[in-house]
Amino acid sequence: MSGSTKKKFKKGDLLIREGEAGECAYVIEAGNVEILVQRGGQPIQIGVRGPGSLIGEMAMIDDKPRTATVRATEDCDVLEITREDFARRVESADPVVKMVMRVITNRYRDMIGRTNSFVSITPDANAGHAENSDEVHDIALSAIKIHNELKIAMEQKQLTLFYQPIIDVQNMKIAGFEALMRWKHPEKGMISPGVFIPVAEESGLIVDLSRFALDVASDAVQGLQKAAKKELVPEKPIFVGVNFSVKDFADTDLFAQIEKTLKEKGTKPEQIHLEVTESLLMEEPEAAKAALEKCREFGLDVSIDDFGTGYSSLSYLHYFPIDTLKIDQSFIRAMTSHKASLVLVKSIVTLAKNLGMKIIAEGVETEEEARIVRDLGVEWVQGFWFAKPMPFDDAAKFLQEWQPPAL
Ligand code: C2E
Ligand code: CA
Ligand code: CA
Repeated sequence: MSGSTKKKFKKGDLLIREGEAGECAYVIEAGNVEILVQRGGQPIQIGVRGPGSLIGEMAMIDDKPRTATVRATEDCDVLEITREDFARRVESADPVVKMVMRVITNRYRDMIGRTNSFVSITPDANAGHAENSDEVHDIALSAIKIHNELKIAMEQKQLTLFYQPIIDVQNMKIAGFEALMRWKHPEKGMISPGVFIPVAEESGLIVDLSRFALDVASDAVQGLQKAAKKELVPEKPIFVGVNFSVKDFADTDLFAQIEKTLKEKGTKPEQIHLEVTESLLMEEPEAAKAALEKCREFGLDVSIDDFGTGYSSLSYLHYFPIDTLKIDQSFIRAMTSHKASLVLVKSIVTLAKNLGMKIIAEGVETEEEARIVRDLGVEWVQGFWFAKPMPFDDAAKFLQEWQPPAL
């Protein structure tokens, strides 16, 4: 268990003393212990425990005196788990694990409170958190529901990709698209990725969703290329941006998967832009760097999504192999009303250019915003002012019929 300390006890040593404050639990790795309680001034053995047993676990729940003494009957090796370590793990756990832990610890506390005759324990020590734990309960339940429905959705092909055009504003051509996932729920209608992507990320299902997106997008980009009217696209092939999550990078064969998919489909690597966020990179920087370097060598474009929202230091831009920065829509939105935001966007553009990176301005909703970023030298723009995300057939039509607005 990472984060726990190994300890040794000699035969006859006390691991736990009845009546003392308990700060930690132990997992016995080797050796045996006996559990003793004081009755009428005499220690009575109430049990023995061997390798694999957890002892002193009440300390994980309550800041209460130990209810028994534990003595090594042989030399023992144990792992110590402190309450802080345990609490930290529970806090960072997925909501479902958190809920189950809370329910189990509360039941345990109640049970001990009702049956323990040695030390009195307040049965509802958690009463003050009732509201909070109801909330956790509700969040967890809805996460379980969405997770289950999402699994069915995958099987029943209710998931689909929409494509939002990315326009080269320097020459008014359709440079590519971003693939954005949609869930066509049979009863609830279209569900936004803002609802189901976080659940998929928590539960690990995101890895399947990302594979699905890559698979579909690799076919789509070829279909879209074929559909395009020559005058509306640049000479080099159009691209599709696919969103990836941190869990995808924990999946060790991410790169192998991408390579296999693209080779099978005959998609050119430069036609796929891998969209990752700053926070994703920072979670496991070394693993992310290694994976991205492989992707880049293979010819994929690496784009930083929501640039400017996640991380305060810019030094990471050198560290990772990055081709494109996607300036977050919050900066674009603020640009016309706050001078400081405009200055910020200008600086990002200069920085990106100096580092040899390309830029996509995201969330452009007005002609004014489009003109400003064009004049700043941004090459690519994505936003409702040009087009909203649309199904594949509409995107194919867009590539035939788009009438570039005068800018
Ligand atoms: P994102 O990657 O930042 O995607 C851009 C979002 O901004 C999309 O929302 C898009 O519809 C929206 N958008 C584009 N132009 C404008 C505009 O002019 N104004 C405004 N207000 N919004 C604009 P969407 O499709 O709801 O997706 C939300 C988020 O869900 C995405 O943000 C992305 O983080 C996530 N997502 C979507 N599809 C996938 C996927 O296949 N995999 C993963 N891992 N995440 C996805
Ligand atoms: Ca994105
Ligand atoms: Ca974005």
